[in-house]
Amino acid sequence: MKVRVGIGFDIHRLVADRPLLVGGVRIPYPKGLAGHSDGDVLLHAMIDALLGATGLGSIGEHFPDTDPRFSGRDSLDLLGAVAQLVRDAGFDVGNIDSNVIAEEPKLFPYFRSMESSTASKLGLLPSQVTVKAKTMEGLGSIGRGEAIAAQAVALVYLR
Ligand SMILES: [Zn+2]
Repeated sequence: MKVRVGIGFDIHRLVADRPLLVGGVRIPYPKGLAGHSDGDVLLHAMIDALLGATGLGSIGEHFPDTDPRFSGRDSLDLLGAVAQLVRDAGFDVGNIDSNVIAEEPKLFPYFRSMESSTASKLGLLPSQVTVKAKTMEGLGSIGRGEAIAAQAVALVYLR
């Protein structure tokens, strides 16, 4: 197959006393995402989409949360490492599309920054990465502000 797609999904709890990082951008908010790394839910979904598209496994296999090397790690560094794996496997990335599912804060002012921070880590143009956001209309755990989720799809092609 010359062209392949992959899907990624992730969810993290919102907790007090953590910085909120989404798509590699720090967002002013009284809570942040819990997690072994920096909890960047959007980057984790993008990483899984890229690994899925290239058949290289999953984020848990490459960066296990039992491994102290990944504690508090900047997920942009993990994304960069995955970009290298994708290139080494002979693939280039066509585009990544994504959704962040969050009741608050409002994320749209940060979409362009998220697109450029992730695109530059991947060696892509900002136009090759798109970030969108949805609320849950107050429904469920995300609607109550207990968590933020993200989903991403990636298209890759054999060089
Ligand atoms: Zn995660």
